[in-house]
Amino acid sequence: MTIDDLHYFTQLRATHPELTDSMLLNSNNLSRFSTEPDVVVAGAGILGLCYAIHLKNISPHLNIAIYKKNRAPVQKIGESTLSSFSRFTTGAVMPQDYFFRLFGLKDGLQFYCIDREGVEVTSEDIGGLDLSFQLDRRMSELFFTMWAQRIGINVYHGVEVDFDSTHHFNTPQVKLKNFPKPGVTDVDAKIVCDASGFSRKLTSKFGNKELLDGWNCDAYWAYFKEKEGGKAETRLDHWDYPATKHMCFPEGWGWFIKLISWHHAPLANLMDLVAYIINKAKSGVPANAIPPTKILSEMFNCPFESITSIGWAVRNDHEFPDNLEEYGGGEGERKFNYFKVLYPTLNKLMNGVYELLPKYYGNQTYFVRKSMTYRSPVVAGEGWFAIGNSAGFTNPLISPGINAGIGTSVLAANMSKEILDQPPEHSHVVMKKCAASYQTYSHEFMIPRLHQMNRYWYNSFRDHRLFEVMVPCFWTLGVDDVDSQYVNEFTEEDVYWVIGVGHDDFVDFSGKILDILEPSDGMTVNEEKVEQARALAKQCMDYRKERFPGNEWGKYLRRHDCKLQLVPEKHERMPGGRCFGVRCKSCKVWRHNNMNACPVCGA
Ligand code: FAD
Ligand code: ZN
Repeated sequence: MTIDDLHYFTQLRATHPELTDSMLLNSNNLSRFSTEPDVVVAGAGILGLCYAIHLKNISPHLNIAIYKKNRAPVQKIGESTLSSFSRFTTGAVMPQDYFFRLFGLKDGLQFYCIDREGVEVTSEDIGGLDLSFQLDRRMSELFFTMWAQRIGINVYHGVEVDFDSTHHFNTPQVKLKNFPKPGVTDVDAKIVCDASGFSRKLTSKFGNKELLDGWNCDAYWAYFKEKEGGKAETRLDHWDYPATKHMCFPEGWGWFIKLISWHHAPLANLMDLVAYIINKAKSGVPANAIPPTKILSEMFNCPFESITSIGWAVRNDHEFPDNLEEYGGGEGERKFNYFKVLYPTLNKLMNGVYELLPKYYGNQTYFVRKSMTYRSPVVAGEGWFAIGNSAGFTNPLISPGINAGIGTSVLAANMSKEILDQPPEHSHVVMKKCAASYQTYSHEFMIPRLHQMNRYWYNSFRDHRLFEVMVPCFWTLGVDDVDSQYVNEFTEEDVYWVIGVGHDDFVDFSGKILDILEPSDGMTVNEEKVEQARALAKQCMDYRKERFPGNEWGKYLRRHDCKLQLVPEKHERMPGGRCFGVRCKSCKVWRHNNMNACPVCGA
């Protein structure tokens, strides 16, 4: 049996049943182990893996080791991605079409503003600009782990990292727990990247989480499948289109993300499937010559199914009723059901279309995450950077987690290269400069702007008339020249784009809107404020139209024309957009317009 065998990992497991999941994964490391690697990454979540992959691409000679606490990739929340991520993967990993064998296609964002009476539904959307993926996070983490291993990065599962950062003038000392080789407990690296997510393994040593001004948000979520013969009349306009869907209401909003789940596939089988795709891509076999998902699933005995991740992200400054018992058992279930029932449009949609998947991921059905918005006070220092959630997180709205987070992976990797390229006598000065600049980027620029974006969006949910003007203003402020913005790789310019909030025009405009709306806090808003905000939005639109006259917004927005005017009878995007989804007649899954066959069933 050789590693090139199609069923290498399943055979290995069959002949060696004593192998644990982490042994199986660690056996795929190709580089020599060193107690003095150039770079150590704590955490093999999506952003730690992307940091390491990008750094290895730009500095192939580096010895990079990633340590991950879990014994194998596990499901986690955070499935929806944007062009930032798909551009990164196209440039740094492989073209998009290979990924559509593993992940769901995503085109755009749809928003529906609803009310407590169940009467009004105002919708806004954007799409046709770029394509990206709806991720099964166990699969994405497994894929990027095996890709990293393939390009020479060692990824060790089942190894917990801690840091000794008492010597602030040296790179933090890495302490390993449960390393597979007996006696290995300490590792010296030149650069350390803390990618340990919400557990903030290194950043926590430099201070507690900082909360940002105003209300924070809590999330409640669960997993569902679409009912066989679900009621068509309860679906909202364009509900089946493969966008990430948002239901917006004064206390917050809810996400609906439909994805391909590989949850029931055993690890060894999935490893064989992923190895197969990586081998094909690496040997230049075009994506359309790879069998579709259905055949791959049979070849490797990896069942897959469509599921939908549904959850609410709500402000924590509203009052729940004293007694929530009628809504179910634990806190997650009660608060999830409370909002579902509170909004008749939501309730009808959920009851008509979705069926709960109890305990789909282990023992829990409903999940809760409180006070999601924070930043770490220190995110870089002597010999280290913190990326992704270890540096901070704001809110899942418009998916900044992975998609702005990828900017932290790329920037920290570029800076790591810059430092490691220096002769020893200069590296200290360059390290200091990079750490200061990274600190400013993450702590002063990215997180505060994302927080301002959320306050802007949540305020727009307070009234349909605000929603109707503030959402298109966000698109025009987030994108300057629409047609030149979308290229096939992630650049330093994207690092500072931060999914649209990097532009100063956005900060100025949203600041003025918040000055009007925020003082009258609470869920409702008075007439005078609505009128003031709408007048300001009109000025903003006029100004942006004049500044970017070539933007043909009618190709990317369903309800607006190229001049961003709302057109009551317009319900579809004008032809000529960059891309769009086409539904397979046979299996009903969506593919994009440039694919000549369905990536899932092959029809
Ligand atoms: P993680 O993915 O959490 O990875 C951290 C890794 O570190 C884990 O693998 C863990 O095992 C490992 N680790 C931890 N401690 C140690 C240790 N001591 N030693 C070794 N390893 C360790 N983002 C999106 O882009 N789209 C979405 O739709 C979206 N939805 C979200 C919804 C909710 C409710 C929430 C809370 C977040 C959502 N996010 C979303 C955010 C997304 O989940 C995160 O931003 C993303 O997972 C960040 O990745 P990361 O690599 O920083 O951390
Ligand atoms: Zn199909």
